[in-house]
Amino acid sequence: MLCAIQKYGNYRIVVLSLTKSKTYFCGVLLMDRKVRVRFAPSPTGPLHIGGVRTALYNYLFAKKHGGDFILRIEDTDQKRFVPGAEDYINESLEWLGLKLDEGVRQGGNYGPYKQSERMSIYRQYADQLIASGHAYYAFDTSEELEEMRAKLEAAKMSAKYDATSRMNMKNSLSLSQDEVNKRLENGDPYVIRIKLPRNEEVRFQDEVRGWVVVHTNQMDDKVLLKQDGLPTYHLANIVDDHLMEITHVIRGEEWLPSAPLHVLLYRYLGWEDTMPKLAHLSLLLKPDGKGKLSKRDGDRLGFPVFPLQWTDPKTGEVSAGYRESGYLPSAVINMLALLGWHPSDNQELFTLEELVQAFSIEKVSKSGAKFDADKAKWFNNRYLQAMDDAELAELIRPMIDEKGWETTDEYLVKVVSMVKEKVNFAPEILEVSEYFFTTPTSYDEKVVNKKWKGDTPNIIAELADVFDGLASFDADAIQARFSAFAEEKEVSPGSIMQPLRLSVSGMGGGPPIFDMLELLGKETVVQRMKSANASILAS
Ligand code: GLU
Repeated sequence: MLCAIQKYGNYRIVVLSLTKSKTYFCGVLLMDRKVRVRFAPSPTGPLHIGGVRTALYNYLFAKKHGGDFILRIEDTDQKRFVPGAEDYINESLEWLGLKLDEGVRQGGNYGPYKQSERMSIYRQYADQLIASGHAYYAFDTSEELEEMRAKLEAAKMSAKYDATSRMNMKNSLSLSQDEVNKRLENGDPYVIRIKLPRNEEVRFQDEVRGWVVVHTNQMDDKVLLKQDGLPTYHLANIVDDHLMEITHVIRGEEWLPSAPLHVLLYRYLGWEDTMPKLAHLSLLLKPDGKGKLSKRDGDRLGFPVFPLQWTDPKTGEVSAGYRESGYLPSAVINMLALLGWHPSDNQELFTLEELVQAFSIEKVSKSGAKFDADKAKWFNNRYLQAMDDAELAELIRPMIDEKGWETTDEYLVKVVSMVKEKVNFAPEILEVSEYFFTTPTSYDEKVVNKKWKGDTPNIIAELADVFDGLASFDADAIQARFSAFAEEKEVSPGSIMQPLRLSVSGMGGGPPIFDMLELLGKETVVQRMKSANASILAS
C-alpha cells in the first residue's frame, strides 16, 4: 500500500494505491491559487535589457507553475509618457517569444490592462484608507513643502513628511475638523498621504533575499493620490495587483525600497492574506561590475542594451537593438536567463521550454550579474550554428532582397552552408558572401600587394582557359585539374591558390576553395579570372 500526494492542475489530491492497478482517491489536500504574475513596465522609453530579463523571469516562473503571464502598462505618470514605448514593449516580448496570457492587446478577464484606462478604480481605495485612519488629506503647497525641507535640513534632520514632521504641516491630522471640511468644500487642492505609524518594524520575506526588515521611522508618508485625483505608482500598483489576483511580484531591485510601503498598503486595505509574494531581482551590472548597466556602456563598448532598435521620438537619436544587430531571440533569451539565475548543473544551452522546466526562483542570485558582451556573442554563435541552413537562409532572405541580389532559394541555402561556420551573426553572412551574388569590385589590398605580382596575373589567365575546358565543373574535377596545372607550370599549388581565390572572390580567405568555385559555376569563375587583372588594377 502506498499513500501519495499528486498534483492535478491547481489541486493536490491524496491517493492511496492498494495494488498497481487500483488507486483510490482519498481527498483534496489543498488548493493552490493559480500562479499569476505580471510584467508592469512604464512606457517611458525603450525597454532596457534588464527589464527584458525581469519579463523573462516572470514568464519562466508563470509557465513553470502552469500560471498566467500578464502585461500591465503602468502609465499613471503622463508627464513621462513617451509615444511608441508601449508598442515597443509589445513588439519586444513578441520577438522574444514571451507569449502573454493577458494584456492590453490580448485582453483578459481582469482588464483594462493599462492604468490610464483604470483611473476610476483607484480613488475608492484612497477613500477607504482615509476612513480607516490609515491615510489623510494634505493641503500643503509646494512652497510650504520646500520650507519644511529647508528647515529640517538646516537642523540636520532627514527632510521627510512623516510621523514627526506631519503635525507641523497643513493636513487633516494637524488641522481642526472644521478647517479640513471647509477646505474640502472650497475645493482647495490636496493630496492623500499614507499615515505611517511611528516605531514599527515592517517585515516581509523576499523570495530572493530572504527576510527584509525596515523600520517605519526610515520611511515617509508617501502620496497615494495626487492633486489631480490620479493615483501614484504605489496605490495603483497595489490595487491592480490585488484586483488582478497577482500571486507573485517579480521585479527589479530598484523597487525594493517601495516594498515595505506596499506591505503596509496590503495590510491597511485588508488584503494581507492574499498579498503576492515578493521577489526583487538584483541588477544587471556593467561588464566590469561597477554599477548598473547603462545605455552609455552599450555605446562605449559596442553592444546593444535594448532588445529592438529604438529611435527617440524627440531627439531622433537611434539606439541599437539586439534584433537589428543580428542576434537571434533564442540566444538573447538564453543569455539573459543565465544572467542572475543558475541552473543546478553546468548546462549552458537552454531552449525556452527547457528554461521553463529548469527555472526556480531559489536559484536566482542575490548579487548583481555582470553583463558579458563576449558571452552574448558566443550564445548567438551557438544558436546560429545549430540552425538549419534552410532556416538561416530564410532569415537572411529579406536582407538579400534588400541588397538587390537575385538568387534562388537553393543557391542561397548552399551559400549559407558554406560560409556560416565563420560567423556569429546572421547579417555577417552577407558580408562574407557578397561575391557569391555580385562580381567583386574591390580586392583585398594586402593579398594584392603580396601575391598579385610577377607572372601571377598571366598564370591565372591561363588557368582560366584550362578551367574553361573542363567538362565537369565539380570540386574534385577542379582540384585535380588545378594540381595538374601547377605541376605543368612548375609552380607550387600554394603560390597560386590565394591569387585564384582573390581573382574570383576579391578576398584573401573564405570557404574551401574548390567547393566555392563549384558553387559559383564555370562561367562565372572563368569570366572573373580572365578579367581579374584589369579589375584589380582599376580597383
Ligand atoms: N511600473 C514599474 C516599472 O516601471 C513597475 C514596478 C513593479 O513591477 O512593481 O518598473
